[in-house]
Amino acid sequence: MTEKCGVVGISLADRDAARPLYYSLYALQHRGQESAGIVTHDGFQQHSHVEMGLVGDAFSEDDIAGLSGATGIGHVRYPTAGSVDASCAQPFSVSFKSGSLGLSHNGNLVNADEIREELAGQGHAFTSDGDTEVIAHDLARNLLEEDLVRAVKRTMGRIHGSYSLTITHDDTVLGVRDPQGNRPLCIGELEDGYILASESAAVDTLDGELVRDVKPGELVVLHEDGSGFDTYQLVEQEHTAHCFFEHVYFARPDSVIDGKRVYEVRRDLGRKLWAESGIDSDVVMPVPDSGRAFASGYAEAANEDDEAVEFAEGLMKNRYVGRTFIMPTQDERERAVRLKLNPIKSTIEGKTVTIIDDSIVRGTTSTQLVKLLKDVGAEAVHVRIGAPPIVAPCYMGIDMASREELIASDKSVDGIADEIDADSLAYLSTEAVADVLETPQSDLCLGCVTGEYPYDIDGEATDREVGRPSVPADD
Ligand code: AMP
Repeated sequence: MTEKCGVVGISLADRDAARPLYYSLYALQHRGQESAGIVTHDGFQQHSHVEMGLVGDAFSEDDIAGLSGATGIGHVRYPTAGSVDASCAQPFSVSFKSGSLGLSHNGNLVNADEIREELAGQGHAFTSDGDTEVIAHDLARNLLEEDLVRAVKRTMGRIHGSYSLTITHDDTVLGVRDPQGNRPLCIGELEDGYILASESAAVDTLDGELVRDVKPGELVVLHEDGSGFDTYQLVEQEHTAHCFFEHVYFARPDSVIDGKRVYEVRRDLGRKLWAESGIDSDVVMPVPDSGRAFASGYAEAANEDDEAVEFAEGLMKNRYVGRTFIMPTQDERERAVRLKLNPIKSTIEGKTVTIIDDSIVRGTTSTQLVKLLKDVGAEAVHVRIGAPPIVAPCYMGIDMASREELIASDKSVDGIADEIDADSLAYLSTEAVADVLETPQSDLCLGCVTGEYPYDIDGEATDREVGRPSVPADD
């Protein structure tokens, strides 16, 4: 089950963690809008509040007041098309003989079913079909036999896939990032404690300082009294598999991920896009909000080349409409684009226009926009995209549509240009992405644009020798 989510964990000196957790979930709301939850521990017992909906709707003042304790974790979960399942809302919390556990997970395991089956055979009862409960049960079992660090190491040796986790074990908060570091996770210092969060924007929101990213394969244990943290490099792997799409689309532009400022990455990708496939036009405009940083970099590079391109906002966004993605039918998706975006006729009429977006998934947005711009009098509409064509689904935690739905899965760039009726269309190369991220392609997850994944996924090709651990593991 794909968990495209935001996670956070906080340990403070001597005030309740619930309110800062709540604020940091607000900062991570873009990573998940289906459900929100917080688990805290007050030194004696665990408290939990998890509810469907946005952060602002999921907690009342009383709910926050009831979440006592100076340590805790939080979670926001992304909606998946189809049924909305409250049993998968997080953090997952449970009490075992080995203590109480809370778990927040961002990512996706590829061998959760094997581990669930094995644990169920040993008498573990599962209440959901999610990955997170599998990790919780495995960890709980290991904690009966080992200390915390060894227990986490053993679980990491059994689970395969993408995971950034924040965990409470009684009043200890832990952060774990999978050995290839697919999803982000960072450490921040607060005035009176420490925070682990999917994105540094959450640290900023609490007026904290970003300390650093959690390393791939690393366990971070926050001190219960908020005074610091210990780290353990539990698994070493030769290559990382950082998700490039976090930088392109998913993360907030004001976050810093794996040492890179997301906004600057997007602007640099826009500059590369001009260098690779710039085209003369009267005006360059972003598809708001996802294309904005790309378009500003593209227009800046164009003007440095003496192209005297006007950079204009030609599309107004209605910010109250949710992401088009969660509309279950194509008809509704098309309607949603129209609801969401309206052209500003004066900046378009009689002009040649280049629109810039970060990505094309199904092609709904660009098809609708090209038509809209032509309807209001654009002479030509060129489309430039700040990422390579998305040809394959994401199994690692981003909801990306199935292969059949992806417009680039069976069409060439020219075929897509025809389909969306653009006068020209160009994407960015994977080389440019690796260049801007200053990371070799072998250290990135490029599965959705190459069809080769850095994990061992049933029925798919892999681009590396990682290997799935055998379950039961020989530990
Ligand atoms: P589409 O209309 O299906 O081609 O989707 C492209 C639009 O959706 C672009 O404006 C992207 O910024 C945005 N987008 C890309 N990936 C995702 C995603 N995983 N979830 C929601 N929106 C996305």
